[in-house]
Amino acid sequence: MAKPRVTETRIEAGGLSARLLRSRRRSVSLQIQTDLSLLMRAPLGASESFLRVFLEHRLAWVQKHRARMERLRAADPVPTWTDGGSIPYLGGRLALQVSPSLGQRSTARRSGGRVQVFAADPGDAEAVRQSVERLLAREAAELFPRLLAECLESPHARKLPRPELRLRAMKARWGSCDTVKKIVTLNTRLMRHGPDVIEYVIFHELAHLRHRAHDARFKAFLAELCPEWRERQDRLSDLILD
Ligand SMILES: [Zn+2]
Repeated sequence: MAKPRVTETRIEAGGLSARLLRSRRRSVSLQIQTDLSLLMRAPLGASESFLRVFLEHRLAWVQKHRARMERLRAADPVPTWTDGGSIPYLGGRLALQVSPSLGQRSTARRSGGRVQVFAADPGDAEAVRQSVERLLAREAAELFPRLLAECLESPHARKLPRPELRLRAMKARWGSCDTVKKIVTLNTRLMRHGPDVIEYVIFHELAHLRHRAHDARFKAFLAELCPEWRERQDRLSDLILD
């Protein structure tokens, strides 16, 4: 049997994982796809170890560009909240499907990669937006306590007081911490970011339970809690869009 012209496998190195397409080409290339996954193209005969070194050496480049792409995506134009649009969700996007409902109330539900909204008037963008926000707030109410519990399990967080968790849709901040009453408040709109970014916000607020100001000691403690905090903070968009 003739050798296939293109073979597809996976390659992993330095914490990165890429689809590997080997073909009759001479050079190695690495691309970040729009879904942030990696695609490596390589000659048929290139050795695995060479390709792993190649991938490892591009770790910083991949992190930088993925961060930029995620930031751009998170700061995407405001969704149009109409049928056929899409909304940011946990670092990716969900397709938005809007259909007429029988009743007056709009409802939203998520199935797989899409959100279905049933609205009395499918053209009423504000009603669609509100029902999607209610859906995301319900999901946040399930997800965020779990993420907080996981963060509190991390070795450096064990000695911290157990804070009360509150959730709110906020416009100006992603989270806050009442260090006296030991209350951590998280913005339900964090649902648009990946779980690792949400975790960073939780670690940030937990770090305030020990250090109030954003000083050197705060940052040192935050780095203990979450060594990747700078890269994750970088992916947190500054803008909180409606
Ligand atoms: Zn802070």
